[in-house]
Amino acid sequence: MAREVAIALDGNTGALLVEDTGRLPSELRDALERLAGPAREIACAAPPEVRTLAPASPEELAALPCVRLAGYWHDSLIEGPGRRSVAKLQGCPLRCHGCITPDSWDAAGGRLVPVERLAAALLDPAHERDGVTILGGEPFAQPAGLLALVRALRRRGCRHVLCYSGYTYEALRRRAELEPAIAAVLHEIDMLIDGPYVAGLAHGAGAWTGSANQRVLTLKDTPAGAAVTS
Ligand code: SF4
Repeated sequence: MAREVAIALDGNTGALLVEDTGRLPSELRDALERLAGPAREIACAAPPEVRTLAPASPEELAALPCVRLAGYWHDSLIEGPGRRSVAKLQGCPLRCHGCITPDSWDAAGGRLVPVERLAAALLDPAHERDGVTILGGEPFAQPAGLLALVRALRRRGCRHVLCYSGYTYEALRRRAELEPAIAAVLHEIDMLIDGPYVAGLAHGAGAWTGSANQRVLTLKDTPAGAAVTS
């Protein structure tokens, strides 16, 4: 079987981005680096490194909003527009047939972490990004923690926030009538990718979706959102 390695040039910086630098033949890598400078690792098909945070201390649990986290990573090119830092929240009640991440279903798994610490980690200045993506699991299964995380990201200057949900936008809107935190999240995020994973529609999936039924919805037409979606 032929091996594939994704190679890209960053349109903003001109940097050479390679999915897995170790799999690139050395002669090809040398030739590319002579033209475009040192290669930088990106997460094209899977995150190169899934990180986690120390669990909330008893003091943090008592005083600060927390969210249950499966892990986070940087430099994703497949989970929204541009380059993304990504939080994967733990817990999903939807149980889609063929889900590629059943490890994220257990609502008691992962680690409860303070949203402020998570926001700081996601916005680590050592990594460039066009925005932050929050996926799961099911992010809207933790509406209060999700809202606190979105607001913590905004306070720290995050220009573009995208959430995935296995619920449709219409279903979330119905839930929002009873759950103000969901209404607030939908009001404050820039983009939603909605709907459950449907294995039979996987072949028609778009660049950022798992199956063709899922929609990319721009909820806020901010200058930052326009810049990364154009
Ligand atoms: S919503 Fe996402 S995480 Fe939940 S079961 Fe479906 S595909 Fe898996």
